[in-house]
Amino acid sequence: MHEIQILGAGPAGSAAAIAALSASVPARIFERSSGRRHKVCGEFITPEACGVLADLGVWDEFLALRPARIRRCMLHFGRTTKTWKLPECAFGLSRYELDGLLLRRAETLGALVVRGEGDAPNEAGKPVVVASGRSTPAPKGNRIFGFKTHYTGPTDDHVELFFFRGGYIGVSAAENGITNVCGLAPEGALRACGFRLDEFVARQEPVAERLRPLARAMEWLTVGPLVFSNRIGPPAAPDIYPAGDALGFIDPFTGSGILNAMLTGRMAGSAAARRIPSQEYVARCRGLLEKPYRASVLIRAALKFDGVGYLAALVPGRWLFRSTRIGRWAI
Ligand SMILES: Cc1cc2nc3c(=O)[nH]c(=O)nc-3n(C[C@H](O)[C@H](O)[C@H](O)COP(=O)(O)OP(=O)(O)OC[C@H]3O[C@@H](n4cnc5c(N)ncnc54)[C@H](O)[C@@H]3O)c2cc1C
Repeated sequence: MHEIQILGAGPAGSAAAIAALSASVPARIFERSSGRRHKVCGEFITPEACGVLADLGVWDEFLALRPARIRRCMLHFGRTTKTWKLPECAFGLSRYELDGLLLRRAETLGALVVRGEGDAPNEAGKPVVVASGRSTPAPKGNRIFGFKTHYTGPTDDHVELFFFRGGYIGVSAAENGITNVCGLAPEGALRACGFRLDEFVARQEPVAERLRPLARAMEWLTVGPLVFSNRIGPPAAPDIYPAGDALGFIDPFTGSGILNAMLTGRMAGSAAARRIPSQEYVARCRGLLEKPYRASVLIRAALKFDGVGYLAALVPGRWLFRSTRIGRWAI
């Protein structure tokens, strides 16, 4: 029986392995990092992801990790704030735990995990799921970088996004009293304080105020440059199935990247196991992701206007939330 090779053990790669193994096709995952690690991510898990976690067979274990429950969304534009209740409960779980949970499930089903670089070109026509994350070099100049850390202290059930010129910082709870602090900012703004993120955060007054009762519990992590997708291109070859961020990277303010990764990973693993041509699989992904990509591009453009806070007040929060994610019908 043919084996599926998977590059990357993030949510997309593990979901692909679980889907292939569930169709009784062996899967081998190549992961270049030597072990579990923290990743730059807001760690906000959108309610639509719950069905995918259940389908991947990890829902009970997910709940056993005691993810934070997130029920309200707050958007801050300077001193203007927009708040609404989420249509359903969302969750906060560190990527250290989530990635570990999904990979353990894949291994339990029989996935072979090889620690080291995998190669994108497939040998002897073996299907390859490329789930190796973002790989979008950005031209020097106006580049955007991401950063993240964990704080400890009192938590609440809000996900908050503090917008400032060219970027934003998100604050929301994760498991065990952790508060995730994660954001994006233009290189110039970060360079102005020597990439010292405590200093950068302290300069964003409303964020500094929000974090005052908390204490930083780990080193800052940074990634970048980041380039967002607004369309999905064709696959490199008929046996290559790109999934997750390797397929397309949505602006993180949507909080839907993990959902997209698990969903497209699951679809890629299943398509590769059934030898469905990757063009067909990619066309299906394009159909699912077109709307959220378009909405996030429009919102990102709106964020450049000074009056965005007043504009946001006119748009129902639930609509804003739904427009940036794959519809439930597809999950
Ligand atoms: C600042 C920021 C904040 C975010 N916040 C959120 C959020 O709150 N909620 C949300 O849903 N999404 C968020 N996202 C998006 C989310 O992190 C991604 O969409 C998600 O991680 C994609 O998963 P993935 O499996 O595609 O890629 P990854 O999680 O990046 O996993 C890819 C894996 O592949 C491995 N790898 C790479 N190359 C190779 C190779 N050649 N061979 C073998 N292994 C390889 C890497 O080591 C890595 O483990 C955020 C992203 C950023 C940058």
